[in-house]
Amino acid sequence: MNVAGHVPKQLFIAGAWQDAEAGRTLSVDDPATGKELARVADASPADAERAADAAAAAQPGWAATPPRVRGEILRRAYEIIVARTEELALLMTLEMGKPLEQARGEVAYAAEFFRWFSEEAVRIDGGFSTAPDGGNRILVLRQPVGPCLLITPWNFPLAMGTRKIGPAVAAGCTMVLKPAPQTPLSTLALAAILAEAGLPGGVLNVVPTSDAAGVVEPLLRGGQIRKLSFTGSTQVGRILLAQCAGTVVRTSMELGGNAAVLVFDDADLDVAVEGTMLAKMRNMGEACTAANRIFVHRSVAGEFASRVAARMAALTVGPGTEPGVDVGPLIDDAGRRKVDSLVRDAVAHGAEVLTGGELPAGPGCFYPPTVLTGVSGDAALMQTEIFGPVAAITEFDTEEEALAAANDTEWGLVGYVFTRSLDRALRVSERLETGMVGLNTGLVSNPAAPFGGVKQSGLGREGGRTGIDGFLEEKYVAIPF
Ligand code: NAP
Repeated sequence: MNVAGHVPKQLFIAGAWQDAEAGRTLSVDDPATGKELARVADASPADAERAADAAAAAQPGWAATPPRVRGEILRRAYEIIVARTEELALLMTLEMGKPLEQARGEVAYAAEFFRWFSEEAVRIDGGFSTAPDGGNRILVLRQPVGPCLLITPWNFPLAMGTRKIGPAVAAGCTMVLKPAPQTPLSTLALAAILAEAGLPGGVLNVVPTSDAAGVVEPLLRGGQIRKLSFTGSTQVGRILLAQCAGTVVRTSMELGGNAAVLVFDDADLDVAVEGTMLAKMRNMGEACTAANRIFVHRSVAGEFASRVAARMAALTVGPGTEPGVDVGPLIDDAGRRKVDSLVRDAVAHGAEVLTGGELPAGPGCFYPPTVLTGVSGDAALMQTEIFGPVAAITEFDTEEEALAAANDTEWGLVGYVFTRSLDRALRVSERLETGMVGLNTGLVSNPAAPFGGVKQSGLGREGGRTGIDGFLEEKYVAIPF
């Protein structure tokens, strides 16, 4: 099936598919082969300005559209996505690399954000109360913040889009979306689906570009964009926060992670091994929630490591489109070279390689599932997102020591705890400096739950009951009465 061939390749502005200025295009490559999949319009700063103008022009009418109508558009889009699962999954596998089975999982996860926010659109409420001195009535309205700029990464090309578009549509905000240049096809397919579901022109505008900095900075300075919702690295998040300060654009930031897994001596090892495999290998380790540091109690560390190594060594590596493949290619050559250098550095700091650890020859950006034990606290990967299929295991003796090690990072997105003790589970969950905890599970992502981090992993939450809040502004009306 030539799925890439069927997807629109142009910019989507004011409800129309358009070429970029001077007909510029960018190349989208298949990381399994290194070959070009498609060429997509490459927006210039002037194209992005037109997209912001379209979003600004559509804002009043969209804000006035009944919540039920907005919700039903999302519901229809949810149904179309589910009906096209195979097509969308294959598209994602081709442009991003993840195995088809995982891509199907992402389609379901992505669609669910639309279903969730279709239900939230009609539950936007406000408040009415009497001031304590009895002299005033306080009316609180919740209104859309206005045109939003959404910036998404390549690792979950569909879900990172729906997680932002869903609440923005539900709240009555218009949008300019800049997808990652490696994976624009999934976003363009999504825009076409939303148009088919009845989203009016100008509400969602999509501008893939090879010049992210050149396109985004003027938009944030321009005064039309009222909110930035960004998912990506902490490093880029800091730059964008500084740019938003200039015009006091409100922000939601879903940034990087450095997740710790804590396996205590009272853990069910079957559950801990299964959970760690999931936390480590979902998306080939290219996830902000990926298990980056695995701390295991000394008494069970040997058995745990050999069981994880056996599971990792048994995984099939290859193009995600092939049946039976568990581990697809990494996103690009720079990505796999970074993983390789982190592994070499850990070994130079004394780590032992139980399986994997060798960079294969091309073609394709593959890296083998790798298990390291005895990883030193000084190894670079302890303070760097590995973003690859490498399990880095370190031993600990006490709960206090494990917690201190887990919290010894500037990030705080998620932590995973494996224990059968209820007291320990609650104690450790409370003391982990993270926005999310996986308790005897390696998967926390759920559209009905508030996803997000503390410390330098971000600001705000996406999904759940509060996921719409970042797209709404409170207005208070004082009523003497
Ligand atoms: P990235 O390099 O920060 O890029 C993210 C997005 O920002 C891309 O669209 C990128 O476009 C754009 N960008 C980069 N520099 C920019 C600038 N100066 N101005 C405006 N936009 C800019 O991250 P990535 O490598 O795509 O994604 C991986 C990162 O995302 C990891 O750190 C991961 O942990 C994080 N992530 C977090 C979550 C979460 O929910 N917390 C979820 C998924 C991923 P270009 O590529 O063209 O520069």
